[in-house]
Amino acid sequence: MEEFYSLQGEGYHTGEAAWFIRIGGCDVGCTWCDVKESWDADLFPPVETDKVVAKALKCPANAVVVTGGEPLLYNLDYLCEQLQVQNSATPQSSFSARGRFKVQEITPPQPSPEGEGVSPLQGVWGHHRTSNIVNRTSKIVTTFLETSGSQPLSGSWNWICLSPKRDWPPREEFYTISHELKVIIHEEEDFGWAEEQADRMNPHAHLFLQPEWSLREIMLPNIIRYIESNPAWKLSLQMHKYIGIP
Ligand code: SF4
Repeated sequence: MEEFYSLQGEGYHTGEAAWFIRIGGCDVGCTWCDVKESWDADLFPPVETDKVVAKALKCPANAVVVTGGEPLLYNLDYLCEQLQVQNSATPQSSFSARGRFKVQEITPPQPSPEGEGVSPLQGVWGHHRTSNIVNRTSKIVTTFLETSGSQPLSGSWNWICLSPKRDWPPREEFYTISHELKVIIHEEEDFGWAEEQADRMNPHAHLFLQPEWSLREIMLPNIIRYIESNPAWKLSLQMHKYIGIP
């Protein structure tokens, strides 16, 4: 859908430079979604994965954030494989875990013989394994995923931000493998939903509450009060929107 260089505006890595790859398509259908234009993947011409990778590798930042839409509607194994071909087990970039806890090793699920978990767009999104478009450098790329957890995992990630949605709860495995839980607060009931999600998360995960953008003036004071009473949570703001960057 789009690729751009900017600063991460949300969650644990707020303020850090990253290359963003936004993949079109989402069927979760959150009423308050602020990227509704991403829902219909047919609106965006397919791009060869190797070209996407080549652009990311030219970026001065080592962090690559894959977001959507819901990026896991597609099989991301090849994209991550190509981005991480010279990656190391421990992220070295500025967009790293900074030793807060050991980065989990994630083994992507193997597609079944029937093709389960394989993107219907796989053919148009890439798998051009013999292409020489990508000019390899010694760059170490770290990969970051933003997901609702509604689809099976694919790809290999240095960091997973799980942003679960009440209308389509995450698949169970995301509670174990995600590094960050980011719950959008749209109404008072979302605080209870956030606690239910936090209870299921692994003990290392960072917990964030983020006001839904259109209601931020109403919800932000409530979130601040909630975090003051429940300090396991941290505040996430969409910093990029406040300062007018993508
Ligand atoms: S999961 Fe994300 S992209 Fe999809 S509808 Fe919800 S907020 Fe929008």
